[in-house]
Amino acid sequence: MTARLIDGTAVAARIRGQVAAAVQARVAAGRARPGLATVLVGDNPASQVYVRNKQKACAEVGIESFGHDLPKTATQAEVEALVTRLNADPRVNGILVQLPLPDGLDEERVLNAISLEKDVDGFGPVNIGRLSMKGRKPTFVPCTPAGCIVLLEEAGATFKGANAVVLGRSNIVGLPAAMLLLHRDCTVTICHSRTKDLPAVCREADILIAAVGRAEMVKRDWVKPGALVIDVGINRIPDATKKSGSRLVGDVAFDEVKEVAGAITPVPGGVGPMTIAMLLQNTLRGAELADAR
Ligand code: NDP
Repeated sequence: MTARLIDGTAVAARIRGQVAAAVQARVAAGRARPGLATVLVGDNPASQVYVRNKQKACAEVGIESFGHDLPKTATQAEVEALVTRLNADPRVNGILVQLPLPDGLDEERVLNAISLEKDVDGFGPVNIGRLSMKGRKPTFVPCTPAGCIVLLEEAGATFKGANAVVLGRSNIVGLPAAMLLLHRDCTVTICHSRTKDLPAVCREADILIAAVGRAEMVKRDWVKPGALVIDVGINRIPDATKKSGSRLVGDVAFDEVKEVAGAITPVPGGVGPMTIAMLLQNTLRGAELADAR
């Protein structure tokens, strides 16, 4: 292996430790304990696991969590009314609506209802709008893309003038990741399912972020020697050697790409742990913003 491994688990643990220390210091100083409200609509098992993990992570750093589970029959008005109540609740510094919402609910309207000061996922229109404009600063940056940037910094990235290629243009990963790189003066190319000659585009990248949801799509000969590779993908593939019969892989063919990249994140243990760490950091920031009001 020639690439340096970017250890997301270790970086995330460090950030969680910093958040825990800051929470402890706040409480010792008589300030309010930060609070995160989670809104889970329906019974999607993956969403239930994600929400449970977020609540557990909050407890570990001393952030209070308020779980709100609504049935999949909940109406648009009921979900929005809950968000409105949470906007007004001073114990709540962050509101996380777990996506995707069940069919029939308008995700955009629900996200729009979250107040700017509590939009810790950073998906609200004002945060995304500011992220997409030159010289503007969002109140909160979406957690997974923010985690990618921290990992690139860990790997010693030189952003200014670097060619950055982002594979994927989703609202939650690809687009905001591209904007963050642009703010850092990278020359950014965003690729998607209609991009022609993807391998050739990727080969130009000094920084490559893969967020497509296609198992091990990025091959060794797509990667420029020495490039920094961040693999956001989480894909389950069959593996008869595992008791479960499957294993998780990223969007990058790790075993071959690690022979040519300068640094690379593993899956699992790369971007995944960073997402929750950034959410905790954003919730703490929400509490600090509330102090300042
Ligand atoms: P989406 O399905 O919303 O977006 C996928 C993007 O990849 C789209 O822009 C799509 O293009 C593009 N794409 C799909 N297939 C190809 C292809 N063959 N060639 C080029 N582009 C392609 O996914 P997400 O952004 O939500 O997630 C991406 C991956 O990241 C998933 O594996 C997901 O599980 C993982 N993830 C991991 C997180 C973490 O914490 N580590 C958090 C969030 C996601 P088009 O727009 O044209 O359809």
